[in-house]
Amino acid sequence: MKKPRVLSGMRPTGPLHLGHLHGVLKNWLKLQDKYECFYFIADWHALTTEYESPEHIVDYSKELFLEWLSVGLSPEKSILFLQSAIKEHAELHLIFSMFIPVAWLERNPTYKEMLQDLQNKDLNTYGFLGYPVLQASDILIYKAQKVPVGVDQLPHLELTREIARRFNYLYKVDYFPEPEPILSEVPKIPGIDGRKMSKSYGNAIFLNDSPEEVKEKVMDYITDTLRPKKSDPGDPENRCVAFNLIRLYFLPEEKEEIVRDCKNAILGCVECKKRLSEKIISELTHIWEKRKEIEKEDWKEILYSGIEKAKEIAHQTIEEVNLIVFRKKII
Ligand code: SF4
Repeated sequence: MKKPRVLSGMRPTGPLHLGHLHGVLKNWLKLQDKYECFYFIADWHALTTEYESPEHIVDYSKELFLEWLSVGLSPEKSILFLQSAIKEHAELHLIFSMFIPVAWLERNPTYKEMLQDLQNKDLNTYGFLGYPVLQASDILIYKAQKVPVGVDQLPHLELTREIARRFNYLYKVDYFPEPEPILSEVPKIPGIDGRKMSKSYGNAIFLNDSPEEVKEKVMDYITDTLRPKKSDPGDPENRCVAFNLIRLYFLPEEKEEIVRDCKNAILGCVECKKRLSEKIISELTHIWEKRKEIEKEDWKEILYSGIEKAKEIAHQTIEEVNLIVFRKKII
């Protein structure tokens, strides 16, 4: 039986960090064994917010691709490609934009939130308002049945489903499937200062940091502020930011020991964070070693091959869509 098709993408707006690794990539790795996965570098989406300084998008795209391969995304299992290499995404976006009511886009909660959050950028643009339409094109051009999303992205996927319904209704066809969410539990990954890990907050541990940088950053993590001395009992689950990473990196019995020794004031934060940085470095070492191998390979060939596979499907979809919309071929 054919595996259901999954699509997901990532914007190349900076180096990858532990938030991406645990929040997105580990989930993608699991999915690639169960589904026919399409993963793409969303460079056009990056342009919606970075249009004033787009000079890093190409470098970040390359970096993203190399890191994907280094963490274990496999071109044998998944189709890995670059959005802007497949012009059919843009063509479908154009066709959809003819019949999407502006009100559907203006009511999008993420749109309002991002306008608020990114006040240093002028996002009152046609492209930024329409980015959920581009997302719908990314998904529907491959007729993906499943999309991995966090709860906060559900309104976006609902919009894609509405666009699929509207197309099918307007042109009296049953052409586009309504993609279903694969809801993934996203672990909480705060940065050094306790806010969400992000390049723009300067609080991230990047996958390409050196072991020394990892050690220093882990040492800077906020711990239980009501525990200035080792002899003060701590409350890791409720007051320690670093404990969110400890949760991810230690085995259950090791975690229990840390919680017990912290509460009993036996374990100090310096020793605890030293153990944590060793765990993180040990995981990253596998990625660093794989990265060295990948850099020796012809990674561009791997990307071209993914683009070719994606393009074949996208091209067929756009041919069919044009035939549905215009009823007949002009040439
Ligand atoms: S000992 Fe570990 S868990 Fe306890 S407060 Fe310090 S860093 Fe957090």
